[in-house]
Amino acid sequence: MSWTIPFARRVHGLRPSPTLAINTKARALKAEGVDIVNLSAGEPDFDTPDHIKEAAIQAIRDGFTKYTPVGGIPELKDAIAYRFINDYGLTYRPEEIMISTGGKQVLYNIAQAILDPGDEVIVPVPYWVSYPAIVELAGGKVRPLQGDPARDFALDIEALRSMITPKTKAIIINSPSNPSGAIYSRDDLKAIAKLALEKDLLIITDDIYDQIRFDGQGPEDIVSIVPEAKDHVAVVNGVSKTYAMTGWRIGYLAGPERLIGMATRIQSQSTSNPNSIAQKAALAALLGPQDCVRRMRKAFLERRDRIMEMLRAIPGISCTEPKGTFYVFPDLSSYYGRGPAGHRIEGSLDMADYLLEEARIAAVPGIVFGDDRFIRFSYATGIEAIEEGMDRLRRALARLE
Ligand SMILES: *Cc1c(COP(=O)(O)O)cnc(C)c1O
Repeated sequence: MSWTIPFARRVHGLRPSPTLAINTKARALKAEGVDIVNLSAGEPDFDTPDHIKEAAIQAIRDGFTKYTPVGGIPELKDAIAYRFINDYGLTYRPEEIMISTGGKQVLYNIAQAILDPGDEVIVPVPYWVSYPAIVELAGGKVRPLQGDPARDFALDIEALRSMITPKTKAIIINSPSNPSGAIYSRDDLKAIAKLALEKDLLIITDDIYDQIRFDGQGPEDIVSIVPEAKDHVAVVNGVSKTYAMTGWRIGYLAGPERLIGMATRIQSQSTSNPNSIAQKAALAALLGPQDCVRRMRKAFLERRDRIMEMLRAIPGISCTEPKGTFYVFPDLSSYYGRGPAGHRIEGSLDMADYLLEEARIAAVPGIVFGDDRFIRFSYATGIEAIEEGMDRLRRALARLE
């Protein structure tokens, strides 16, 4: 007899990460020999820089292959603290820092630490796909707050204020944003911080793209803009995107000591500690030469400019220029309602399917980021793939006229 015990109610609505699923499908098609232009990747296409790999190899040779302290090795915490001072002018003590298995685990631990069933978390739209799942797995309720595409996806602060209830525990912000590439204005960040202080909310700021911004400015976040909010802010960051280290799985949290303590306790009972070898690699990344970061940022900027140029030349598309990240998030909804009878494109899922089937472009439907009008294209890929992809897009959309 087969095993029939039902799964926990908690996981009934849980779906696999759609971005990872699309990327897997595109890779499988490619492996079968199908000529796919993959614009779905959620990671840099560059290799991890050599000096970082060498540090990991050295760690293995040195036998640095045992459990580490739960919240990470002291040298890495010191390096993170150094980078906070150096990059943001912010002081964090080691007790205010925790290292985890990726920024994703940081977010997971925070949600587990602060949410009771029914507690609410405000999540601006469009959001990173994992925020709702992480909140809901902890029993929390997501309250989406629509950003305004006409104003760089800025938030309506009055709408934000009116959404706050006695059950609201936190707001998650992500600037530069995956999927839109938008950066919140200083005024909006000040207004968010003011509200959080007034209502005693936790601001979770996902700064994972802070080094991939194109405005020529150094990294900046809500704490560097409003230092008095520091005690109400959990800063989430990591090495995945900045150093092309997604597979190494190192992320970190800086925030109030109370939160670090509980998030670390949760980690002690789940993953024990982040990977020892990867921690040494992250140390080399944070303290080593940063020209690799500048090189990758420059490449992303050139690609951003090329993809925007080609998107602007396609009729019926409106698209905000990304100010950071390696994603662009055009509105293709003027093409909805078109297509052959029986195969009309009714939303972003249909559009992504159409692009995959008819144009052999892999892209992520906007609905998984909370807004069905859009499609996310990643430009973490070579210029030729971007040009070929945008050519195919133009031709495929023209066939829908
Ligand atoms: C990639 C990503 C993360 C976390 O990545 P890790 O590899 O888990 O560190 C977090 N937030 C956003 C918005 C991302 O795109």
